[in-house]
Amino acid sequence: MFVMKFGGTSVTKPESVAAISKLVSARIKEQPVVVVSALSGITDLLVKLSHSAAGEVRDNLFTEINQKHDDWIDAIFSSNNTAYNEAHKIVDNYLSELAQLINDSSLISQLELHDSVVAFGEKISSALISYYLTQNGIQAQQLIATNCIITTNQFGGADFMDAATRKASKASILPLVKQGVVPVITGFIGANRAGQTTILGRGGSDYSAAIIGYAIQASEIQIWTDVNGVYSADPRVIKTAKLVKKLSYQEAAELAMFGAKVLHPRTIQPAVKLSIPVKVLNTFNLDNIGTIIEHAPDNTDGTIKSITWRKSAPLLNIYSANMFLSKGFLQKVFAILAKHDISVNLLSASEVSVSVTLDNIGKLNPALAELNKFAKTDYFEGFGTISLVGDSIMATPSLMQKVFNIFQAAKIRVQMLSYSASNINISLLVASDRIDEIVPVLHKEFIE
Ligand code: ASP
Ligand code: MG
Repeated sequence: MFVMKFGGTSVTKPESVAAISKLVSARIKEQPVVVVSALSGITDLLVKLSHSAAGEVRDNLFTEINQKHDDWIDAIFSSNNTAYNEAHKIVDNYLSELAQLINDSSLISQLELHDSVVAFGEKISSALISYYLTQNGIQAQQLIATNCIITTNQFGGADFMDAATRKASKASILPLVKQGVVPVITGFIGANRAGQTTILGRGGSDYSAAIIGYAIQASEIQIWTDVNGVYSADPRVIKTAKLVKKLSYQEAAELAMFGAKVLHPRTIQPAVKLSIPVKVLNTFNLDNIGTIIEHAPDNTDGTIKSITWRKSAPLLNIYSANMFLSKGFLQKVFAILAKHDISVNLLSASEVSVSVTLDNIGKLNPALAELNKFAKTDYFEGFGTISLVGDSIMATPSLMQKVFNIFQAAKIRVQMLSYSASNINISLLVASDRIDEIVPVLHKEFIE
């Protein structure tokens, strides 16, 4: 058994939809379990729909969602044959169910409604892809992940509950697989213990694939996307970027965290627990070997595997107002940040002051108000981070010197530095508007 997850572009374009069928057929004996994203652009529209009031805006959103699925059907099936009509029925049924949900929405909170509404993207795509596979002679069956992934109650960004998910996934997936049926499972969604639909956060289908792979003890988790794999830098920006063939779990997690958009940051966690290899592959380039992520580090191509950056990383400096109250200072600070949904990326601390860059600004103002009761705070925008990631960075002493020389030569001030204890990344905070000029220089020095 192995998991094949197909992302938004892969389930949308006719050539990649054909590739899905080809890939599944080719490995049918190895018992593939398919996980899918919504068609491209659908989740964004559903998010808007979930916030819309009855009226023209809402009607237009419905029309647009309908149209995108109709276009898909037009491109995939020849018009007016049975399959074409069946596919339209699938979409129409889901859209009337969605309309009904929205009309009856007064019974549940806005948060709960949001998750149930956005879940329709994956519900429809999984039904369509599963139907498409059966039309191509593959025994496939749609499976809604509310039956597989059991989550916490955090609507908008829930996490899976380990034991309950293993039990539910095995119970719903294994019988199908045993009968030779390919389950086509909705990515992105799950259900809390009460059975209410939850989502795993935007871009969460990768995470779904990893959770399912973990729960059923798959031999491999394949993430099929529209790029060749993980690159040494974003290839749209750095033309000389190279495909990284192999990454350790830790390197991949760090890269995802620090801005590489290929994998959802949480994807690696479940895979690591059972040492399941994760492969990033391209549905539009089937001959490409992709990137494999597993335990063993591979340093044959040099110390630094990849350079990532984030254009925006707001900086928050917090100083303890009274040196003598330093005991418990950090603990207090982090409790307040967590309470206001602010997560931190880089950190540099002493006993009486701490500087953090923010991953998301959460409820910033109330957090600052609370911090200001016992500390002095300064908040700055206009900074971004550059991260160099590689397993043996710490073991290469001359590297830091080289990095500093490059920044000094370019007259770029490094505002904050994190030389991570995990050994595998150096992150620097610099003015956002200097990132574009310095990344190519770093790439040239360390990778080319
Ligand atoms: N469709 C969801 C999103 O756009 C999940 C995913 O594609 O990974 O966020
Ligand atoms: Mg994605």
